[in-house]
Amino acid sequence: KLHNTILELKGNIRVFCRVRPMLPDDESSPCGGDDVPVIQYPTSTELLGHGIELIQAQGQKHTFSFDKVFGPEAGQEDIFVEISQLIQSALDGYKVCIFAYGQTGSGKTYTMLGNPDDIDQRGVIPRSLEQIFKASQELGAQGWSFQMQASMLEIYNETIRDLLAPTSKCETTGKQYTVKHDPNGNTSVSDLTLVEVTKWKEVSSLLQRASQSRSVSKTAMNEQSSRSHCVFTLRISGLNESIDQQVNGVLNLIDLAGSERLSRSCVSGDRLKETQAINKSLASLGDVILAIANKEQHIPYRNSKLTYLLQPCLGGDSKTLMFVNISPDVKSTSESLCSLRFAAKVN
Ligand code: ADP
Ligand code: MG
Repeated sequence: KLHNTILELKGNIRVFCRVRPMLPDDESSPCGGDDVPVIQYPTSTELLGHGIELIQAQGQKHTFSFDKVFGPEAGQEDIFVEISQLIQSALDGYKVCIFAYGQTGSGKTYTMLGNPDDIDQRGVIPRSLEQIFKASQELGAQGWSFQMQASMLEIYNETIRDLLAPTSKCETTGKQYTVKHDPNGNTSVSDLTLVEVTKWKEVSSLLQRASQSRSVSKTAMNEQSSRSHCVFTLRISGLNESIDQQVNGVLNLIDLAGSERLSRSCVSGDRLKETQAINKSLASLGDVILAIANKEQHIPYRNSKLTYLLQPCLGGDSKTLMFVNISPDVKSTSESLCSLRFAAKVN
C-alpha cells in the first residue's frame, strides 16, 4: 500500500537495478579486503531486495535503494514476473517505456533481448511480445480485436535510422527522419517502416532484419551497438464494437547507448563527438525523468532526439521503468558508481 503511494508520487517512474553475474574476464573481489572495491547486493536466498551497497577501495561506502534490486542469480523469468503487469497495461491503452541504462558490458542487451531462442535466456522483448499476443487473443473472446505495428530505429549521433527499411532505402544519403506529435499524443516518424505483427515469429524475423541493418551500416560494427540507442516500438490499437470501446497503447523497449564516460575511453575526433552526443542524450533523458518526477512545469523534452521522440510516452499517465545494469567487475567500480548515482537521481 505504502509502496503504491510512493509510485504515485513519483509519477509512475520505477527503477530496477540488476547486477549481472561474474564473467570469465571479470576481476573479482572475493572477500572484500580493505584495498578492493565491493558491490553488495541481494544474495541467492533473497533474489531481490531494495538496497545495494558499493564500497570503494578506500573504504568509502555508498548505499542506494531502488524499487527493486536483482542480484546476479536472478534469471530472466525472475525479472519478467516483476514487469508483466506493466507490459499488460500497454494492452489496456497505456504508453509504456522500458529502458536499460548502464555501461557497455553491464547486461543491457541481455536484459532487453537476451537470447530469444533459449527459453530460459529470453529477455524482456521476447517475453513481453509473447505475453501481449497471448493476452490479446484471450481478449478476442470478449469481443476485442487488436492491430499491432512494430518499428525499430536507432539513434546514433542524434540522427534517427530506420532499422527495418528495405536495404535499398537503408543507405540513402542524408535522409532525415523527422518526428511529429499530433494533438492526440500519437507520434509519427516520417518514412519509418511500420510492420503489422500478429505473432512472435514475425517479430523475431524483424529483430534479425534490424540486427543485420545495424551491422552493415558501419565498419566498426562491434563498437556500434554500444554507441547508439536502439528503440523497439509496438503500437497497439484495440477495438471492441460490442461495447463501443477503443484503446491505443504503446510499448517502447529501449536498449540505451553505453553510459561510459569520456575519460576512460581516451577519445578524440569523430569518436569524441559521438561520445559527447551519447553523454548529452543520456543526461537529457535523466533531466526529463527528474523533471517529471518533481512535477516541474517545464519538461526539457527537446534537448535530445531520444526524449523528443518519446515525449508522449514519458510523463502524463504513461508508465516508465528504468533498468540500471551493473557489472560486478572490479575494474568497473567507478562506472558502476556513476550509473547508480544516475539511477538514484531519477528514482
Ligand atoms: P551490454 O548490452 O550492456 O553491453 P550485454 O548484455 O551484451 O551488455 O552483456 C555482456 C555480457 O554479459 C554478454 O556476454 C551477456 O551474455 C552477459 N550477461 C549479461 N547479463 C547477464 C546475466 N544476467 N546472466 C548471464 N549473462 C549475462
Ligand atoms: Mg548491448
